[in-house]
Amino acid sequence: MNEGRDIDYRGNGEAEDVLKWAINKFHPQIALACSFSPEDIVTAHMMVEIQPNIRVFAIDTGRLNEETYQCAEAVRRRLGINIEWYFPKHEAVEELERKKGLFSFRTSLDARHECCNIRKVKPLSRALSGLEAWVTGLRQEQSVTRAKLDKVEHDDVHGGIAKINPLADWSAERVWEHIKKFNLPYNKLHDQGYPSIGCAPCTRAVEAGEHPRAGRWWWEDPEHKECGLHIKN
Ligand code: SF4
Repeated sequence: MNEGRDIDYRGNGEAEDVLKWAINKFHPQIALACSFSPEDIVTAHMMVEIQPNIRVFAIDTGRLNEETYQCAEAVRRRLGINIEWYFPKHEAVEELERKKGLFSFRTSLDARHECCNIRKVKPLSRALSGLEAWVTGLRQEQSVTRAKLDKVEHDDVHGGIAKINPLADWSAERVWEHIKKFNLPYNKLHDQGYPSIGCAPCTRAVEAGEHPRAGRWWWEDPEHKECGLHIKN
């Protein structure tokens, strides 16, 4: 854990315990960043059980799948929560698409980062401004870029606020057991071979035996498969 703001967590490390501690300490200046992954939905469910008025924000990049919107609505209704939606600045998207077309992100890593920066990273910064902590559904197993994830971190990229990753040591199987046990909604693309879902043009289904994130930016090397939302200094 990094030095900085007071986030001296000393609990037992179980996801619910971490969330109870974080919500007691930071609510209402704490919010879940939700992309409606199974991990995010499990986390939202746990948070609602602790505090019905939890804050959840989501980023509508403008390139999401229809199934993701349907999942978002199902989650909103099932958990009885309001979702704070954030959009990219329309001027930036207009300029990008007018100059470089609709699929510039396929041309180079820099071009992909440019699109993610406009559509995801900048809206995330707006969503986090004013918060003291944010919660994610990240897991260590998901990728090489997340292997050293802590459950409680300082987010130095976003002003040193706390970043809470309660499912850091969970397996995918455990996440799905929770979804099934509580009959929670999930993105129906998961039934069509999509273990990890982002924007529609940057996500494909994976073959049996492929890494679960192989379908994200499939034209890039594994160490580049982050959109900039979860980078560290
Ligand atoms: Fe753009 Fe693809 Fe990043 Fe979405 S995932 S913001 S479409 S580059």
